Amino acid sequence: MDLLLLGASGSIGRQTIDILKNNRQTFSLMGFSVGHKTRYISKLIRLFPEAKHIYMQSAQSYRWYKDKYPSINFYFGKEGLQQLLNNASYDMLVNALVGFVGLEPTLIALENNKKVALANKESLVVGGDLILKLLDSGKGTIYPIDSEHSAVYKCLKVQDKNVDKIILTASGGAFRNLSLSELNNVTSADALRHPTWKMGPKITIDCATMMNKCFEVVEAFYLFRYPYRKIGVILHDESYVHSMVRYKDGYYRAEINRPDMHNPIEFALFEGEIPFTTYSFQSLEELDKFHFHQLDYSRYPLMKHAEKLLKHRGSYGTVLNAANEVAVHAFLNSQISFLDIEKVIDYVIRHTRILKDVNYEKICQIDKKTRQKANKIIKLWSKMS
Ligand code: NDP
Ligand code: MG
Repeated sequence: MDLLLLGASGSIGRQTIDILKNNRQTFSLMGFSVGHKTRYISKLIRLFPEAKHIYMQSAQSYRWYKDKYPSINFYFGKEGLQQLLNNASYDMLVNALVGFVGLEPTLIALENNKKVALANKESLVVGGDLILKLLDSGKGTIYPIDSEHSAVYKCLKVQDKNVDKIILTASGGAFRNLSLSELNNVTSADALRHPTWKMGPKITIDCATMMNKCFEVVEAFYLFRYPYRKIGVILHDESYVHSMVRYKDGYYRAEINRPDMHNPIEFALFEGEIPFTTYSFQSLEELDKFHFHQLDYSRYPLMKHAEKLLKHRGSYGTVLNAANEVAVHAFLNSQISFLDIEKVIDYVIRHTRILKDVNYEKICQIDKKTRQKANKIIKLWSKMS
């Protein structure tokens, strides 16, 4: 199968590369993208000589690569990802970009009836309704890479009748043992120390604020089409139970495995057609090696946005995601405190009118405006403090 890998230099991207190296007969890497880490380009060209379409975010080293590899098409800048998708020939897009920038490639790939192995959950948070429209018109297929959704996909593959609830597990992130009041002085270095997973910086912060789980509820809604009330979240310390499905007869089914993203990535690349194991059990007490706790929504106030987003739909996800991206970026740059992330998001949501129907162009405008609004309030607050 011919693949395009976006975000090849990131955490998911590099783990995808590991899998491709071990499955050379099955996959050809026809093209890939990096952001600013252009040092990956030459290494990947050596590993995958079939790759003839390569994107880098900035124009800085474009000329140098173009001269060094004249038989390869290089792209950069705002239009570059789109050009890469339009010019390369591929069967499956592996979307391992982080953030809003991942939406357009997902839409283009589906529009062109391609398979999409999707790590970029922001695609569904921002453009879930556009994606559903494409899927419902018979265009393309999505295979989830997120570990929770991969687990749910597997459980539903075994049994998708009489489902009572989808239950996503959450580690609680870096500050799971701290109370809200103890979060006043935590730093970005503290927040980047995730207890069970090693991931890119943005999602690691999203885990600490629980915005990641909020996004994953939305992701589950669009992937599996269960209403909000049928998607639950439970805290689970060890990240071995990747998520579960509870059935109407009271039984549970779960995927239980050590935390390693290679597994869900591989499962998505193989379109779910490789052996897997799920476990059925009658009560969580049977899993006595593992620890579970009810989620306290007042401890993780950002979780409330999942219900709101799924009630309003329209532009809610775009506003929420843009405010979150700006706030997380500002926190990583020590411009705001950890608790300010939530304050920025709530301020922006409160001061933005949510539109009901949005197309891709409108989404882009709203994303841009929301970023301006979030940046403005961050600047103002930092002047005041
Ligand atoms: P990383 O930050 O590690 O990697 C992101 C990738 O996207 C990098 O290759 C980066 O390039 C590239 N990139 C970032 N911004 C741009 C841009 N504006 N234009 C072009 N390329 C860009 O993130 P992760 O791998 O952790 O996460 C990727 C996605 O997968 C996210 O949506 C995340 O939520 C999801 N996910 C991640 C998991 C994990 O274990 N990491 C688990 C489940 C889901 P560069 O670094 O070269 O600048
Ligand atoms: Mg996840």
